[in-house]
Amino acid sequence: MSFPAQLLSEIIKGEVRFNEPMHKHTSWHIGGTADIFVLPGDIVDLREALSLARRCELPVSIIGNGTNLLVSDLGVRGMVIKIGPGLSRIEVRGERIQVGAGVPLPRLAAVAMRSSLSGFEFLAGIPGTVGGALVMNAGANGCAVGERVRQVTAVDFEGKEVQLNNQELEFSYRCSCLIRRKLIVAEVEFEGIPGNADAIKAKMDSYLERRRKTQPLEYPNAGSVFKNPTGDSAGKLIEQSGCKGMREGNIQVSPCHANFFVNLGGGTAQQVLALVEKVQQRVFEKFGCKLIMEVQKLGEF
Ligand SMILES: Cc1cc2nc3c(=O)[nH]c(=O)nc-3n(C[C@H](O)[C@H](O)[C@H](O)COP(=O)(O)OP(=O)(O)OC[C@H]3O[C@@H](n4cnc5c(N)ncnc54)[C@H](O)[C@@H]3O)c2cc1C
Repeated sequence: MSFPAQLLSEIIKGEVRFNEPMHKHTSWHIGGTADIFVLPGDIVDLREALSLARRCELPVSIIGNGTNLLVSDLGVRGMVIKIGPGLSRIEVRGERIQVGAGVPLPRLAAVAMRSSLSGFEFLAGIPGTVGGALVMNAGANGCAVGERVRQVTAVDFEGKEVQLNNQELEFSYRCSCLIRRKLIVAEVEFEGIPGNADAIKAKMDSYLERRRKTQPLEYPNAGSVFKNPTGDSAGKLIEQSGCKGMREGNIQVSPCHANFFVNLGGGTAQQVLALVEKVQQRVFEKFGCKLIMEVQKLGEF
């Protein structure tokens, strides 16, 4: 079946674009074009887009804010669905916060703070969405997002709705069952800890200040490229292997934070991968440790 582009544009309340440059949707500013790019206006849109893709046997990929993504220079075939502003409802009821998967993490942290709910301070400086954070079990400062999750409403690639509780999500370090089970996060119920708004704000400010001092935020990057090996720090191993400042084309191991690779301008996915391999090799030679990528690859590699 050839793809009914017109039909998709008519049934979706959100936006549909064709040959969309993915570098506009990744924090690294890297990536070729997506054949079909959908911004669902709500969960019904999401289901409609999935259903049409299934009928046309099109591959579907899901993204949030693209802050943990390396998109191929050759782009992404099929349909890319970006879970963003269309799924960004947020509602506080007592200690519970009901949040759409497209809500940016700093917004969740700010709403929790204004509601005097603690436990979300570490999210203030993480630029992803709630959906992306759940998939990756994003964390910082000794906390991880999974700790605050009560319930998730997800959709499978057939468009069927699934409810999962905290245990069923199988959270572990920078991981959950969501990628393996091919589930798309639509909405999340969090539980906060009653606290004091001023104290929460002070904690958020100190975390943000620390990031400004220790992370190369002036250049496009995707946060930590590698997961920390158990009981160790990937950044420390990379630095002690003499990799700080190492370059492949316009991608550089940040001289400021060795686990961040920065795009100095016009860098490519191929250059990122070449630098990943070089760094992995150096760290392996020096410490016998194989670093594993935290950043997710998307598209044709
Ligand atoms: C400056 C900077 C600092 C960072 N600091 C941290 C940090 O301290 N701690 C940390 O853990 N991470 C950090 N990150 C990485 C990143 O922000 C997190 O991993 C974030 O949770 C990713 O969310 P996203 O919406 O950008 O997901 P994306 O990068 O768009 O996607 C990541 C993965 O999640 C999947 N996905 C996205 N949304 C959904 C959804 N709704 N349903 C199902 N699958 C989905 C994608 O398919 C992909 O596999 C940082 C990144 C940057 C650029």
